[in-house]
Amino acid sequence: MRAAKLISAGKIEIEETEKPVIMHPDEVLVEVKAVGICGTDLHIFRGERDDVELPRVMGHELSGIVRETGAQVTRVKTGDRVVLDPVFACGECKTCKCGHVNVCSSVKCYGVQMDGGFQDYIVVEESHLYPFGEDVSFEAAALAEPFSIAANIVARTGIMPEDKVVVMGSGTIGLCIVQAIKGIGAEVLVSDVVDSKLSRAKEAGADDTVYSRVHSLEDAVEGFAPGGADVVIDAVGIAALTEQMPDLAAPAGRLAVIGFDGEPAGIPPVKITKKELTIVGSRMNCRRFPKVMEWLREGKINEELMISRKYPVEEIQRAFEETLADGQDTVKTLILF
Ligand SMILES: [Zn+2]
Ligand SMILES: [Zn+2]
Repeated sequence: MRAAKLISAGKIEIEETEKPVIMHPDEVLVEVKAVGICGTDLHIFRGERDDVELPRVMGHELSGIVRETGAQVTRVKTGDRVVLDPVFACGECKTCKCGHVNVCSSVKCYGVQMDGGFQDYIVVEESHLYPFGEDVSFEAAALAEPFSIAANIVARTGIMPEDKVVVMGSGTIGLCIVQAIKGIGAEVLVSDVVDSKLSRAKEAGADDTVYSRVHSLEDAVEGFAPGGADVVIDAVGIAALTEQMPDLAAPAGRLAVIGFDGEPAGIPPVKITKKELTIVGSRMNCRRFPKVMEWLREGKINEELMISRKYPVEEIQRAFEETLADGQDTVKTLILF
């Protein structure tokens, strides 16, 4: 079978390797059909992640078909169309036992610290697989993982239909969050410093947008939600935006932080105290795939808007290079098998 391996920064080679075999009774052999390229994959490709050992088969946003099952597998059967929840935790520690598997101190992700989806077959534990019907394409299903990030943020901030939500950033995750919020029925304002990305936010269902390079975000929020927003989400993940969040929130507002920025965000404690703000972090997803499978079934995920580029696996090197070169104009690139 083919396995696309990152050999060194910027260089992926397709190697002929042995098809993996089921070693434990709870494992499943999946034939990969579609895999999304994530921002994480692009960082790894550029050699910007020192926690990733090479060679590595990247790719954690995958859909496929079950081809074989171990003796104790009950969740899926041969022939099922499935997506993978790539979050892999120890299952033994206090954090895992309390249900917070995505923040387990030894958490790993398929395609990052262990081999992932850019190969013809992968063996995974059945607990990571979620089946979907014939009416959902493999391509749409490959979007499940980025939407699980949105599902986690929506759950962490407890968004309700009556909420007014500000989403900073109209990139891939921002667009997923907007669709998730509109699915709930809340109102959403999206800001971005790239004007062209805001038209996509509108297409995703945003009630209002603001081009924050030119216009004041604070003024736009005051017009959208006088007195402040109920929920503010930084979908870019940089300290400079985290810093702005308390000023945009209403009293008793909730703020979601998803960035991995190591820079300090200077927030005077008084800004949190006076409004009794709640600040939550949100990392990958904590078993949110059942919610995402619901969205896929109900057609709440706009596949045309999200998928910008598709390449056969043979052209994966070109797919990475062109996605990087394209910058702001690509939402999601898919690799097809
Ligand atoms: Zn991803
Ligand atoms: Zn654990």
